[in-house]
Amino acid sequence: MSAYDFDLFVIGAGSGGVRAARMAAAMGVKVGITEDKYLGGTCVNVGCVPKKLFVYASHYGEDFHDAKGFGWNVEGTSFDWPTLRDNKNAEIQRLNGIYRNLLVNSGCTLIEGHGSLVDEHTVKVGDSTYTAERILVAVGGWPFVPDIPGKEHIISSNEVFYLDEFPKRAVVVGGGYIAVEFAGIFAGLGAQTSLIYRGDMFLRGFDNDVREFTAAEVAKKGVDLKFSVNVEAVEKQADGSLRVSLTDGSTIDADCVMYATGRVPRVEGLGLENLGIEQQANGAIIVNDTFQTNVPSVYAVGDVIDRIQLTPVALAEGMALVKHLYQGQDINVDYNLIPTAVFCQPNIGTVGLTEEQARAQNHDIDIYRSEFRAMKHTISGSEERTLMKMIVDKATDKVLGVHMVGPDAGEIIQGIGIALKAGATKAVFDSTIGIHPTAAEEFVTMREPVKQ
Ligand SMILES: Cc1cc2nc3c(=O)[nH]c(=O)nc-3n(C[C@H](O)[C@H](O)[C@H](O)COP(=O)(O)OP(=O)(O)OC[C@H]3O[C@@H](n4cnc5c(N)ncnc54)[C@H](O)[C@@H]3O)c2cc1C
Repeated sequence: MSAYDFDLFVIGAGSGGVRAARMAAAMGVKVGITEDKYLGGTCVNVGCVPKKLFVYASHYGEDFHDAKGFGWNVEGTSFDWPTLRDNKNAEIQRLNGIYRNLLVNSGCTLIEGHGSLVDEHTVKVGDSTYTAERILVAVGGWPFVPDIPGKEHIISSNEVFYLDEFPKRAVVVGGGYIAVEFAGIFAGLGAQTSLIYRGDMFLRGFDNDVREFTAAEVAKKGVDLKFSVNVEAVEKQADGSLRVSLTDGSTIDADCVMYATGRVPRVEGLGLENLGIEQQANGAIIVNDTFQTNVPSVYAVGDVIDRIQLTPVALAEGMALVKHLYQGQDINVDYNLIPTAVFCQPNIGTVGLTEEQARAQNHDIDIYRSEFRAMKHTISGSEERTLMKMIVDKATDKVLGVHMVGPDAGEIIQGIGIALKAGATKAVFDSTIGIHPTAAEEFVTMREPVKQ
């Protein structure tokens, strides 16, 4: 009989927490888990899932337009925001139910409320306290909105999914993937959209070629890109609209101003200070190679440790931790070659090194690059173009990085990610027979490197 209420107590039922809790319970571990807001976490409620549904929705405008070239008469289309929002809400509710069942059916005790650390073996939820041999902190992150005049008029990704009305004019502020995706969503659904970013090019960290190509494509779809400028203030006008004042002295009138200027670990009110748990300057919990904090009974995974903020990474960390703690396995999370996508229009898919990273790491590289109009757009009338790029190490012939901007780039790059993890060389790509006619076959038919 254990001296504790639980073997493992998880704070936060998001991607990392739920996966760890379920897996541990399936191994016979006595698990308690607490959640105060989003059963299933950010991804399911205000992240990946509803966003992708909105991305699908936003694509229809373009699809209707493209359909004409294929003989379809699609006059009289219109978009109804409440239908999209409410259908999305119903789907998220369904998923919340699934997460609840998954937890309960796997034997976890789900306690709804805000969890905080009391001591190294005790968590407080509401008025109750629970003891556990080990505690896992998987509280994720929260949108960061800087303090500017008029902050109260600004929404973040938490609110954008529930707007009462769809804006006619939207301003999105930020240069990361969430900002770029939402600019595409607003524009695709018919809002006059501006994207404001203080740097000179969005999507820092992506291949420069990809960034510039994407900027050109996003602009073609009607998003007004304003780089090297920032917002000074947001002011509510007499008619209820919002006036956004920029640092270059100009103003933009909008009905909705969304900030996507980064996320911070959601550690407020968590009681980390009660245990002296070490944190980075941004609040992220510091853990060692086995996700253990400086307090040996307390572990942390996912966005709150601020390694790579992606759902599959949080899942992998949660699984690896549980297999380590309860089956004695080594931690096997590989942070290299993580494929990722940006669901802007068109999509970006990427895996491995960018050209800039490869050069900085002193690789002598060949670049293979192809830019074309996809077959569909030969008669759709769309001006959209696709970019594909491969970075190859000359000495070993190993493919170091693969990047794509084009329809379904995320779907295509997932498979390429497996090839890169397997250590594929350019010769392996070249000897692979293409699937014809696809855009993806271009990755196995690029013969001549770019002249450098
Ligand atoms: C708009 C948006 C789009 C995204 N799109 C993608 C995408 O396309 N692909 C992708 O891979 N990733 C995407 N992400 C990132 C992804 O959602 C996160 O990386 C992932 O959810 C991290 O999982 P986690 O378990 O660390 O945290 P979360 O999923 O955030 O879960 C943490 C949970 O803990 C709860 N919690 C916090 N504090 C407490 C407390 N004290 N007590 C009780 N409960 C608490 C929270 O309510 C939350 O449910 C997106 C994120 C956003 C915001």
